[in-house]
Amino acid sequence: MIENMKKIAIIGGGAAGMICAVRLKKYGFNVAVLERGARLGRKLSATGNGQGNVTNLDMGASRYFSDDTEKVARLLSRYGAAEFIGFLEGLGGIFLPDSRGRVYPASRQASAVTDLLRRELARLNVDVHCNTFVDSLIYEKNGFTLSGSGAQMRADAVVFAAGGKAAENFGTDGSAFALIKPFGHTVTELRPALVALRCEQNGVRGLKGIRVDGLLRVLRSGKELYRCRGDVLFTDNGVSGDAVFRASSYAREGDTLLVDLLPDVSEERLKQATANADGEDCLLCIVNNGLGRVLWKRAGGNKNRAVALVKEFPLTVTGTLGFDRAQVTRGGIPLSETDEALMSRKRAGLYFAGEALNVDGECGGYNLQWAFTSASRAAEGIYETYAE
Ligand SMILES: Cc1cc2nc3c(=O)[nH]c(=O)nc-3n(C[C@H](O)[C@H](O)[C@H](O)COP(=O)(O)OP(=O)(O)OC[C@H]3O[C@@H](n4cnc5c(N)ncnc54)[C@H](O)[C@@H]3O)c2cc1C
Repeated sequence: MIENMKKIAIIGGGAAGMICAVRLKKYGFNVAVLERGARLGRKLSATGNGQGNVTNLDMGASRYFSDDTEKVARLLSRYGAAEFIGFLEGLGGIFLPDSRGRVYPASRQASAVTDLLRRELARLNVDVHCNTFVDSLIYEKNGFTLSGSGAQMRADAVVFAAGGKAAENFGTDGSAFALIKPFGHTVTELRPALVALRCEQNGVRGLKGIRVDGLLRVLRSGKELYRCRGDVLFTDNGVSGDAVFRASSYAREGDTLLVDLLPDVSEERLKQATANADGEDCLLCIVNNGLGRVLWKRAGGNKNRAVALVKEFPLTVTGTLGFDRAQVTRGGIPLSETDEALMSRKRAGLYFAGEALNVDGECGGYNLQWAFTSASRAAEGIYETYAE
């Protein structure tokens, strides 16, 4: 490690902020992390249903939504899934993929990933300030002044890693964007993504709690926009589950969701299986009993129609459950306002990392990967510019 007394302040102690701090400290900088919450990495600890799906072996820019997916591709080629796994295993721990390429800590505990990063920050003596809500960021006299929660700090460079607007209970309500707007930055329209969908009540009545491994298609004016296979969980006001989260990136109010409730079985085979059965139990041992009864009712007691509904169960989208229940934010600071190292084109010395940028990924580890990719590149950029 080279000794480098340039001071770098990081706004936000989430996944991106913590990773960036580790990188910068290892480059030899004097690093401070300013986090409004009482602890670092609260959102990270909740990821992957508490199991911490950190990345995915099936990595590529096509998994992301952004104003510049080519830049995302360039950044991923530098700091991809293998580099992320290598970084984490370099801190200790073992990270393993499941059958779908989703990578988790072997312990399957997201909070342990947070602890791994916290342990490293403590080992490196990174200056961590929790309960510090940064409410002012000014550039003056060749440096930045950050203020908040009664304290003030000077820094040579700043990394803005304050997240987006999703899951406000983890400290991300979108208010931090106000800090960078005075520098001339814009923020694209923000929308909740990776979120459960609300559907017309008639479509889901009687199905709450039923889960299928379905093939989900999103249709707008009859045209298919997206399809994916995965969990579809019926809730009291719509659908949730990993297939729905992925589809939520495409679906809008008024769109139709067509769910194939039994994608591995053809309609032909369903007809054969139900040939000798009539009545509301004709789908016994084919679909969940409760689901079978609803299909029968919705088909008006017509077996062929009930079988057809198994293959194409329609739902009308009426909206999403909103930012509070979303895993990630669609939109943010456009990549076009940053250079290749994610430094602001408006104010030299101001860098960006994580969900605050206009980049969000599909469900399956892509968003934590982006936190790593962007934080690593920003740290490297700071090293290229400020190392003495
Ligand atoms: C329930 C849930 C499950 C998820 N599961 C997965 C998953 O399995 N895999 C995956 O890849 N992604 C998952 N995600 C998404 C992923 O967690 C986020 O995209 C990622 O954590 C973003 O990291 P970040 O550091 O950019 O932002 P955040 O983790 O949101 O961190 C930003 C931090 O900045 C702080 N902050 C904000 N404003 C200020 C301010 N003014 N001053 C000081 N601090 C401030 C906040 O308190 C927060 O701690 C999940 C998200 C949720 C909500």
